[in-house]
Amino acid sequence: MRVFTGVVSLFAVVIANAAGIEFDSNVPVSLKVQVEGDLRFLDSVRNSRVSKLHRDIFGSAKPGEYANWFHSRVDYFGYGDCGGSSSAVACVQGRSDRKIWVTRNYVEIEHPQVARVMTLYHEARHTESDRRNWPHSRCPIFYKQKSIWTGGSLNWHFACDRTEYGSYGSASILLNNVSRFCANCSEKVRSDGAIYSNDQIRRITKKAAFLRIQSDFKN
Ligand SMILES: [Zn+2]
Repeated sequence: MRVFTGVVSLFAVVIANAAGIEFDSNVPVSLKVQVEGDLRFLDSVRNSRVSKLHRDIFGSAKPGEYANWFHSRVDYFGYGDCGGSSSAVACVQGRSDRKIWVTRNYVEIEHPQVARVMTLYHEARHTESDRRNWPHSRCPIFYKQKSIWTGGSLNWHFACDRTEYGSYGSASILLNNVSRFCANCSEKVRSDGAIYSNDQIRRITKKAAFLRIQSDFKN
């Protein structure tokens, strides 16, 4: 956790914005503007239809639904180190916190807009304390898949899921629907959506759950 000291603490206030998220005072303005823009982007997405798992998790993508989903889970945004692991990209720290943190990896490693949205929605899923925050399971000890964000090894890390409804599955389903059904997205957004959803589905290590997502990607 961050500790404010000295002069900095004088400015340890939060800045509210119209979208309802409060950003910690150490969040760089460029990051705040980027996050707000990324959330607005997803809210502007108009899907011609959605898949069954998308409907189960996010609804039918009617105007306002993506924003409502996010803002009913997240009120605060922080910039920190997520416990000090050099591979962390983002996290939710307290079980009942309605707060997302991102790390330097989120800011300094460049990824497309849909990938940033994927990470924000992944973390928003982790705020669901009534579902035990959808904890990750360990990836296999010899796991070929690397983090698409940092390129780091995931062997035996708590960076996999055994359900289609957790953070990896839900974010993957979100992007897959954008890639297939977004009527007002650019070709780049749709192809980025496919790349990242096809990557994240591989974090589902329980075969039956993996197959259910794979079949959702086709319906
Ligand atoms: Zn996670």
